[in-house]
Amino acid sequence: MNKHRTKRLASAIVALGALLVTTAAVSAPAGAQPRTASDDFNPGESYFGTNDYIEYLPGNLPVVFAAPHAGSLEPSSIPARTRETCGSDDFATVNDDNTEQLAREIQSAFYERTGMYPHVVINHLSRNRLDANRPIGVAACGNAEAEQAWTEFHGFIDTAKDQIEESYGKGWFTDLHGHGHAVQRLELGYGLNAAALRLSDDELNRDPSHESSASFRVFSEGSPLSFADLLRGSTALGTLFEEAGYPATPSQQDPAPAEGEPFFSGGYNTRVHGCMNGGQICGLQIEHNRSIRDLEDLPDYANALYDVYSEYLLTNFGILVQSPAQGLDTLAADVAGLVQRGELSGKHGTALTAKLNSAKRQLERDERSAQKMIRAFVRHVGALSRSGDVSATDAERLTALARRVVQTMHAQVEAR
Ligand SMILES: [Zn+2]
Repeated sequence: MNKHRTKRLASAIVALGALLVTTAAVSAPAGAQPRTASDDFNPGESYFGTNDYIEYLPGNLPVVFAAPHAGSLEPSSIPARTRETCGSDDFATVNDDNTEQLAREIQSAFYERTGMYPHVVINHLSRNRLDANRPIGVAACGNAEAEQAWTEFHGFIDTAKDQIEESYGKGWFTDLHGHGHAVQRLELGYGLNAAALRLSDDELNRDPSHESSASFRVFSEGSPLSFADLLRGSTALGTLFEEAGYPATPSQQDPAPAEGEPFFSGGYNTRVHGCMNGGQICGLQIEHNRSIRDLEDLPDYANALYDVYSEYLLTNFGILVQSPAQGLDTLAADVAGLVQRGELSGKHGTALTAKLNSAKRQLERDERSAQKMIRAFVRHVGALSRSGDVSATDAERLTALARRVVQTMHAQVEAR
């Protein structure tokens, strides 16, 4: 364990406080040395905070899903929240039906598709006891037990984000909600309200205050695509959801809610756990319409969400949510595309593909050999770039993707 990692762990322990005592009882043998986060948490298993109010299902993919309004527990030890005692104009107690099941279906879909896990954090307290999508004051209404649960909810999300940054450098956060609005579509909350979304693409791009208040600000600032393109262009999340059969706004098909239509633009968690204020974990809030949230429809939706996320995160931000073998296939498909478009000669394409195939064969048998072969692929791409046989942009993309595959291999190995 290097120094940086030890320090990070120490601060995580301080931050989580009582929480780690609870989880340590599950996984750490008595007298164990301070352990890394990945040793403390086995991907796919359930860990609970105090009184089982908050549940964490750790992952090894660079994505976090939180369900802050999924709970039904109403312990008598926590008084019911009221507008009078909580004191906020942003006060609500309505739970988001079936969002716990939604979070679990998403976890299952990612696992079925990749053999790896997303991180999932679920609040089991009813919203009339804790609103986990508000600042602690109005969230817990001054009750110590609710404050503890709030701290654990956000502590688990922070643990997941730390783990992702350590393994992958960057990742994606999603706050899962359900809305009761009449228009049956996903409402994608990036921190931009309906009035801002009704502006033209030019207006959104011209005034930097829109980008700087967005929950994917850091990625947008680093992207060759414009802010409006990332919001509702051809590769935007809403556009891909629409193409998968799930209406969504903002998207190319439905750029903004119409005047007078209610719309949720993203709450406290989106502001705090996205990258509006910096960091390498960006994200959004997804408000799910009622018709998606029937229990029998959730598996199909979760599957579609996996496909949409897999394409969206890779295309726009270079984030890979695939197994190492799938990542190598994606790389091979990228190489094949270059050859097809005449941007790489067939001879060079064949040589690169041979290295990827060899790496894939080695994956199951000998991971070090597989990594060695991926490094050879990266060196070969570098040589082709220097000789002008492949463009610098294409070489950069292939190299970054190869690096992602190796990171995914490490994350998988660490989790064992
Ligand atoms: Zn909600």
